[in-house]
Amino acid sequence: MTLIPKTIAEAKKMLEAKQISALELTNIFISRIEKFDSDLGTYTQTCFDEARIAAKKLDESGDFSAPLAGIPYSLKDVVSKKGLKNTAGSKMLEHYEAPYDATVAEVLENAGAILLGKVNTDEFTQGSSCENSALQLTRNPWNLDKVPGGSSGGSAASIAKYLGLFSIGTDTGGSIRQPANFCGVTGLKVSYGRVSRSGIISYASSFDSIGPIAPTVDCTARVLEVIAGNDKKDATTPEIAVDAYSSLLETGADLSGKKIGVIKEFVEAEGFDVELKQSFENTVQQLESLGAEIVEISLPLTRYAIPTYYLLVKAEASTNLARYDGIRFGETATVSNLKDQYTKTRSEFLGPEVKRAIMMGTYTLSAGYFDAYYVKAAKVRTLIKEEYEKAFATVDAIVAPVTPFPAFNIGEKTSDPLAMYLADIFTVTANLAGICGLSLPTEKVHDLPAGVQILGKAFNEAEILQIGSVLEKSYGFTEIREKEMI
Ligand code: GLN
Repeated sequence: MTLIPKTIAEAKKMLEAKQISALELTNIFISRIEKFDSDLGTYTQTCFDEARIAAKKLDESGDFSAPLAGIPYSLKDVVSKKGLKNTAGSKMLEHYEAPYDATVAEVLENAGAILLGKVNTDEFTQGSSCENSALQLTRNPWNLDKVPGGSSGGSAASIAKYLGLFSIGTDTGGSIRQPANFCGVTGLKVSYGRVSRSGIISYASSFDSIGPIAPTVDCTARVLEVIAGNDKKDATTPEIAVDAYSSLLETGADLSGKKIGVIKEFVEAEGFDVELKQSFENTVQQLESLGAEIVEISLPLTRYAIPTYYLLVKAEASTNLARYDGIRFGETATVSNLKDQYTKTRSEFLGPEVKRAIMMGTYTLSAGYFDAYYVKAAKVRTLIKEEYEKAFATVDAIVAPVTPFPAFNIGEKTSDPLAMYLADIFTVTANLAGICGLSLPTEKVHDLPAGVQILGKAFNEAEILQIGSVLEKSYGFTEIREKEMI
């Protein structure tokens, strides 16, 4: 049996000790993709030849000192990588090739990571189940009848099945944390501006964030310290120092001295699955037994979160999608006049959720409705942000559920967009407030992975990674995943 390194640290140790070559490691993951991905549908395209060449080059140099030297990974199919297609899960961009590297792809290459390919996403990252991808269906590796979550469903499902050691996802309203939760892996939504968005196809520019999905908190921290930081190409990335996140995760430390908040309105949310709620309450107790002080906090504006979020993101999306007019990017319908070119291109090559975004967004931004909808929602967003800032003046972090229900059946919610939107009730506030959140698995409920998110103050990723790491060790979900997925 081939020995599969299950974490970045394990792989790094083996590579440095020359117990395995970078090429052998790359080939292990390539064979797993070849063996398992026909059932899962996570990869939209692969670049195995290039991966092997890069691995061989590393082996020849013998130098594995770069932080991610030889570590195989994937990019969500909205992150530009020169020479590879950047489809955004859309028919519109099915044949579009990225002309340059996104900053995140460039820094990962400089850190020695080996790219295996691109992974599936809901179209233009709009969705919560990956079913909005116009290109292929991705399944949850724990139960093939279930969705993997979305929109970074390809990232989460592939990492759960060890088809790479980390993946880069995006989170606009939960798209890293929710699929990570449905697939039993770790996902980090960084603070707005912590990681450069340059070269990533946008959904809603004032909400989008880029982050890792990986097997463990330590893997997540190792990737974050490489990709975080100021980038001249993205004016929203401040020059705030990047911590050595992974070395801050002391093994065996407890949580004494930490004050962790529990949001009353989340626990009382309508439609919160009874067993998941019980599991969440057990985790709160677990945090307490690890030494944390638990404080109940009230964030009454939570009830406005979903409408505020969807009003604003669809407005931003409608402006971002305006460029897909059949002239500059992607496909063009065959027509005889310019007006038809715009309308036919959009109606032929964009899917239903994206069209909904254009209609909702254009409506709320139009004269006469702008003040009543967009401006009002923008004001509520500020109030929500302030509510979180106030909360973080009294607690170090917040523990919260990630989803109100476990991974659902494929097809179950596709005809009911509102039911799909409600899946995001616990995740969207972090994006409205610009704070960071770490989603991690704890146990199995309904025979599927369940977990929590730890929310932290903006630019305090170190805090939530530390708390997450202690909690992760106390649960040992990693062993369950290794046993079932390898
Ligand atoms: N499901 C949410 C939406 O469609 C979140 C998507 C995301 O985070 N990219 O807006």
